[in-house]
Amino acid sequence: MPLQKKQDVVHGLTGQFCDARREQRYRWSIQERVRSEFRLAVSVAAGVFGMFAIADYYLLGLTRAFYTLLALRVVVVSLCLLVVYLVRQGSKCDDRRWLHAIPLWVFATGIILIVPLRPESLSTQITAVVVATMAFYLLIPNRLMIVTAASLYLNIGFLVAAVLFADVAPVPTLLISLLLIMGMVVGFFALLRLEILQRKQYALLHEERDQNSQLHQEIAHRKSLEEQLRVLAERDALTKLNNRGHFMNVAKQLLQSCQADRTPFSLLMIDVDHFKHINDTWGHSYGDGVLVRIAEVCANALRPSDVIGRFGGEEFVVALPSTSAAEAEHIAERLKQRVAALVFKDGVSELTPSVTIGVATKDAEASGLEALIKRADELLYEGKRAGRDRVVVGREGLSPR
Ligand code: GH3
Ligand code: MG
Ligand code: MG
Repeated sequence: MPLQKKQDVVHGLTGQFCDARREQRYRWSIQERVRSEFRLAVSVAAGVFGMFAIADYYLLGLTRAFYTLLALRVVVVSLCLLVVYLVRQGSKCDDRRWLHAIPLWVFATGIILIVPLRPESLSTQITAVVVATMAFYLLIPNRLMIVTAASLYLNIGFLVAAVLFADVAPVPTLLISLLLIMGMVVGFFALLRLEILQRKQYALLHEERDQNSQLHQEIAHRKSLEEQLRVLAERDALTKLNNRGHFMNVAKQLLQSCQADRTPFSLLMIDVDHFKHINDTWGHSYGDGVLVRIAEVCANALRPSDVIGRFGGEEFVVALPSTSAAEAEHIAERLKQRVAALVFKDGVSELTPSVTIGVATKDAEASGLEALIKRADELLYEGKRAGRDRVVVGREGLSPR
């Protein structure tokens, strides 16, 4: 069995959480239900109390005692209905315990006061006291301690009134006391058990909610780890572009859908010119920075549907779905110009990088991505041989020369 948290410990006699803040939160959570149950229970109890005026009439007739009793009942019912009204008007978050306690004391006082007015019907009233005590405990939602105090007041008050005004002999007094004590004990333990059970249920519910939220956090954490892993597996560490493996997967799918749609598919193979020289002159880590910037401007110069990847070293590859050779050439020229517009300075000298780009396009016949890459690579090296810093477009078929 899981260990009970300290805050979830319920006091064995008060039926409340030992932790005051936990108790407060629990009461807030049930407040709305308590308010509506309270209104209903007190209204019904007031109605029943008022209806006993009929019994009074048959027992007493239209005597002075009857009118006094009637006045008493009217006062009790009115006070209770006033409290019901006040509770109804109160804001959702007000926890006026004293207001909820008032009807108990009013009912108790009313019941006690009936004894001097109708001493001959004591036996009926004993039953009424026991039933009222049970109702206090079980029907009117209140705190155990408040109900206990009110029921003690009712039972002791009733017993004193019975001895004083109904001339009850010692033995019957003892019997009545035992009966009243029995009612109080049963009511007390029934409510105590209920209060403890409700709080345990509340604690369990919270435990479950905590576990659920922990589980959600764990899932979110795992998802973020998975995402990080995926990024690591798909991205190039330096330029943050797609790495070669991921690019190949994505480009293959794009090529297939272009083949299915019978639209052209173009591929750019980009190589930074004289990059070895850049490294040798400016240092390898400066060269890294140059690569990152070139990758950035190339990626930014593309359309959202295009996919760029780092093919290796200082070479980049771009897949252009649904793009004809002429459009691809246009895009390649744009990339070349954007790279040429980059200027790197170190205070002494200045560097303007350039790229050579091979453009291969697949128009109709089925052919794999590898063949297209090979073709673009050949065109790229054609450009290198022709003096670099240029775009070379292959308009003829895909067969290597
Ligand atoms: P060409 O114009 O013919 O392409 O000449 P090149 O110098 O660019 O080509 P070459 O293949 O001779 O040299 C490529 C250089 O790129 C060599 C290699 O050290 C460098 N290189 C490859 N990857 C990286 C990298 O991640 N960072 C840096 N700084 N340099 C790299
Ligand atoms: Mg190269
Ligand atoms: Mg190069």
